[in-house]
Amino acid sequence: MAKARIDRETCIGCGACWALCPDFFEQNSDDGKSQVVEKYRVGGNLAEGEIPAELLNDVKSAADGCPVQAITVEE
Ligand code: SF4
Repeated sequence: MAKARIDRETCIGCGACWALCPDFFEQNSDDGKSQVVEKYRVGGNLAEGEIPAELLNDVKSAADGCPVQAITVEE
């Protein structure tokens, strides 16, 4: 299954990823940066998730649209 990683150090909390793909990304309420929604996290890691097939295109678009290239998708 494809995986996504968010470099939360690099993320500037612009909101583009969760606007585009709210089923996978959301805003962390403490630091305002992006995190993976709980159901798709790998080992409870906020910054890493398994991407369900139906969300793959949207997650890739979010990665392409991130202004600081903080999202990496591995297929
Ligand atoms: S699009 Fe990039 S910079 Fe913006 S909130 Fe998402 S990961 Fe952070």
